[in-house]
Amino acid sequence: MSAFQNAMRQLDLAATAMHLPAPNLERLRQPERIVDVHVPVAMDDGSQRIFHGFRVQYSNARGPYKGGLRFHPQVDLDEVKALSFWMAVKCAVVNVPFGGGKGGVTVNPKDLSIGELERLSRAFIRAIADVIGPDKDVPAPDVNTTPQIMDWMADEYAKIVGTPSPAVITGKTIPNGGSEGRGAATGHGAFRVFEAFRAAHGMDPETATVAVQGFGNAGQEIARLFHHHGYKVVAVSDSRTALHDENGLDIPALIQAKRSTGHLGQPHGSRTVTNEELLRLPCGVLVPSALENQITDANAEALSCRMVLEVANGPTAPEADALLAKRGIPVVPDVLVNAGGVATSYLEWEQNRINEHWTEAGVLTRLEALMDDASHAVMEAAKTYAVTYREAAFIVGLERIRKAQDDVA
Ligand code: GLU
Repeated sequence: MSAFQNAMRQLDLAATAMHLPAPNLERLRQPERIVDVHVPVAMDDGSQRIFHGFRVQYSNARGPYKGGLRFHPQVDLDEVKALSFWMAVKCAVVNVPFGGGKGGVTVNPKDLSIGELERLSRAFIRAIADVIGPDKDVPAPDVNTTPQIMDWMADEYAKIVGTPSPAVITGKTIPNGGSEGRGAATGHGAFRVFEAFRAAHGMDPETATVAVQGFGNAGQEIARLFHHHGYKVVAVSDSRTALHDENGLDIPALIQAKRSTGHLGQPHGSRTVTNEELLRLPCGVLVPSALENQITDANAEALSCRMVLEVANGPTAPEADALLAKRGIPVVPDVLVNAGGVATSYLEWEQNRINEHWTEAGVLTRLEALMDDASHAVMEAAKTYAVTYREAAFIVGLERIRKAQDDVA
């Protein structure tokens, strides 16, 4: 099933459990607007390449559309639609005043020079400039898009509208209006959520090992935090390779290697496994932090973890959810676990709008409060409705979206 089909299946399950009225459900079965662009970019060798990109504005019932921009070869309309729907639910779960949107360009940014990447980023913003804005739609980083890319985009937008407008994009570098704490926010929020759920599932550093699939911004930070808190991180992977060491990997050294060489390398004592083998390794917490549809009906029976903590968006397909629920393996869902990214984007947006710059401690205190409230709301709903954590998170988010829809209807 495609990512969007999976997303709609999740919507239907939660809508049924909570008796979401049909008119509210109907409004959530498709995006409000799809922007589909082709942008020409001058390449370093003098040729021109046309890139295909999207911005999907799923729902603005609760506030401006909000969500990242992804640069990846797999980006297509179906994926962006799913990701934008999950953003709408996520912003509601973490209770920040945003709707859901998402964008992307079908490209492998690793094939581009810095100059080409900058020209693509600027050209894409020119193409969608009409539909974004601090009160309309606020993009941010996602897979393969960095604070530097956000700076180029915010700068291009300022040129178009003729005035600096930092709140149009979040996830910028600090000198250009970014927030303290935003870089580490997704991982930080994810660990905070884990802390709220771990007691209920008997997880602690003595008994639980961790396997992390994906070593981008969020994957590195969550691996670092588990390692820092005394957990043995026994496996990590990036798009090229996966490493396993049952005695625990040296995560700070791997982060250093990844940042300086772009690769994980092969630390002494570790063995190379495939990404698929990583998912099946015996461990306490499996942390998918890469792309969608990694845990499916093809491997859910073979997983041997005690909990899944979804740092990626959409890593578990609905059929796998059902199999894992039957096996008693809790899945703490993406729309809660990775919401620290957008929660801190909200804090950045607020700082930009009132022209303030808050301390890291101030930002993290607010982030933690948002994550704790969201975690407790989800745990409560799971009990009240006797459903999985994913359904509970959807129920919390959809109920807030329903209220906002009904207020203006
Ligand atoms: N791309 C991140 C996500 O999937 C962050 C989005 C944002 O900050 O707007 O949640």
